[in-house]
Amino acid sequence: MSTFSREAGAALIEHAQSLDCIHCGLCLHTCPTYQLTGNESASPRGRIHLMRAEAEGRIEPDHSFEEAMNSCLLCLRCESVCPAGVRFESMMESCRDGLDSVRPKGWLARLARRIGFGRILPSRTGIRFTLGALKLAQILGLTRLAPLLLGARGRALASLPSVPPRAERQPLDLAAPASGSETQEAWLMEGCVMPELFGRVNRASAAVLAAAGVHCRTRAEHTCCGALHAHNGDLAGARDLARSTIIAFESSENIPIVVNSAGCGSHMKEYPRLFTEDPEWLDRAQAFSSRVVDFTEFLATPERLDPLKSRLGRSKSGTLAFDDPCHLCHGQGVRSAPRTLLAAIPGVEVVELEDPEACCGSAGIHSMLRPEDSSALLADKLRDLERSGAQTLVTANPGCHMQWAGGLAQAKPGKQVQHIAEVLAKALEPDAS
Ligand code: SF4
Ligand code: SF4
Repeated sequence: MSTFSREAGAALIEHAQSLDCIHCGLCLHTCPTYQLTGNESASPRGRIHLMRAEAEGRIEPDHSFEEAMNSCLLCLRCESVCPAGVRFESMMESCRDGLDSVRPKGWLARLARRIGFGRILPSRTGIRFTLGALKLAQILGLTRLAPLLLGARGRALASLPSVPPRAERQPLDLAAPASGSETQEAWLMEGCVMPELFGRVNRASAAVLAAAGVHCRTRAEHTCCGALHAHNGDLAGARDLARSTIIAFESSENIPIVVNSAGCGSHMKEYPRLFTEDPEWLDRAQAFSSRVVDFTEFLATPERLDPLKSRLGRSKSGTLAFDDPCHLCHGQGVRSAPRTLLAAIPGVEVVELEDPEACCGSAGIHSMLRPEDSSALLADKLRDLERSGAQTLVTANPGCHMQWAGGLAQAKPGKQVQHIAEVLAKALEPDAS
């Protein structure tokens, strides 16, 4: 029986959740931070042990506790292997949210967060202005100075991909059916940074969906789903953005909401978790989340794959390897759909990485906050890619896309990274290359 005696509400997590862990240790050797450090406190089991001790009032959330929690990538690989069904993501998000009030961050971190999470991400104008400023800094070569001024974090900043020219940074215009032959409807979630950094991926996604017989529309006024907020200890901000996301799409009941960013899709499928104590919003969140579907799982069904296959030409994309984004394989349990789609492209060879489900080190903003850990994990992935012989690394998540792009530009200039929508869209072109 638990010795839990702390006042209700005082703990960082729900004590009962911590009791799900049976301490078997199966998760240890799959956890990237345990692999990096060898420390139990940097493992899933160790972190849950600490959370439970805190919930029982046996330890205080001191600096070492905070470090154990904040070093987690929230890659969710521990959830994939756990035989007890531990809901690690939910515990970690709750813990980080509570830590924010019991161990307030310094003023600079608070300011950066208030601006980044509160002003920039929820606003299309804010994102556009910020990416425009980054573009200017890249043109003037200022980002090359960042490593000198900011060390490892500056190197992470300097390795960000080039912001595309303004003409490419446009939201989708999908008012009319693309070809007139579509028989199904879907919303295509454009995302917050996607239109600015990966507008080409959104355009490719829309073209591939049209080829599969799907007429998609977008909500230009919608920006951020709140995934970064939830992962980084701002559950209030995450709830606000979840509500606005639900409102933006709920008038069109039953139409699927297709998401080409694995991290966002995984988070939106879990919206009900944010509203367990709010019955009205819980119902609305459940209705919304049941419509969310990843781009690859939506396409890899016969009703869409068959028409898509009939449109795919012989591709010159060569040898490809798919690297599973953590929030696609561990977060959403989607593993076969991207491989089914790639295998449908005539002329390409698809090879497997040795460990495609290992985290690339991107992990939301982890690569900016903990660049050394992030680089070490990416170095393993780059070696894995080299061994596979693939020329193109295929992903399905913008964070991973940026991480790989930065690593390949520095270490493997002959190789490239593409979103799976781009690979498929190229095969739709008559002279696919
Ligand atoms: S989410 Fe990833 S980094 Fe965090 S404890 Fe689980 S396996 Fe380790
Ligand atoms: S695999 Fe699950 S039950 Fe086993 S130690 Fe890890 S979190 Fe606990």
